[in-house]
Amino acid sequence: MRAEESQPGPRRHAVIESQRRLSGEDKGLTPSTTGAAQPLHPVLERFSRQIPIIGVQGQYRLSSSSVLVVGAGGLGSPVITYLTCAGVGRLVIVDGDRVEPSNLNRQFLYRESDIGRWKALVAAERVRELNSGVRVEAYPALLDESLARRLVPSVDLVVDALDNWATRLILNRVVVEEGVPLIHGGVDRMYGQVMTVLPGKTACLQCIAPRGAERIRGGAVLGPVAGVVGSIEALEAIRILAGLGPSLAGQMLIVDCSGMVFEKIPVRRSPSCPVCGSKQPSA
Ligand SMILES: [Zn+2]
Repeated sequence: MRAEESQPGPRRHAVIESQRRLSGEDKGLTPSTTGAAQPLHPVLERFSRQIPIIGVQGQYRLSSSSVLVVGAGGLGSPVITYLTCAGVGRLVIVDGDRVEPSNLNRQFLYRESDIGRWKALVAAERVRELNSGVRVEAYPALLDESLARRLVPSVDLVVDALDNWATRLILNRVVVEEGVPLIHGGVDRMYGQVMTVLPGKTACLQCIAPRGAERIRGGAVLGPVAGVVGSIEALEAIRILAGLGPSLAGQMLIVDCSGMVFEKIPVRRSPSCPVCGSKQPSA
């Protein structure tokens, strides 16, 4: 066992200090009042390695938040796993595909025994196994406008873990109308990109959609490249939900895993964008 894990190091003391600051309004968590020897409440113990970073309030914000993840594939696997591990309150998973053998090089939510099953349903099972405190809803369906209009208003944040621009642009239109933040991620071969859309404030996906891109779907990809990009999406989601603020609002992070180069590029709103062009910038 490493010393870090066997002794009450600075991180653990920080958690205990955070625990002491809990007020009476904190539901179900009993603060320690007798010093560092008191065991942590199981909830705080579970998240004791992240609370020093996001704070107790950040953890509460996470646990009371709802996230829609569209796509439970190569990007969705790390997004769904890390959001579950981090303790989001409610996870809504949409994916219209069944598990295929060619998914298994990168979609680590699935096993060989899952081949032929709906990804959304298997992913929901994995969420429940991993963290029984997360409420999970699964929709084994392709996201169309009607489903997007039903689900987007019920969540605090949407994560685009899709593999095609046609569905992405449907999702983008609904999040902009509903004013729900969207984290976009995409991956192809050794490259990926991540950008956060804050409706009314930053560029939307329609502003940047390459012409004809809606017809491109599912190319080659190495598993860890999807892992890197999906992990960055999950991190951005946790930052926003816990109150740390986005790090990629109005900026596209380009991930080049062939040369291990990460670059942030500012993205401006297009005044003529048919989706967000008429949205007034928020104060
Ligand atoms: Zn736009």
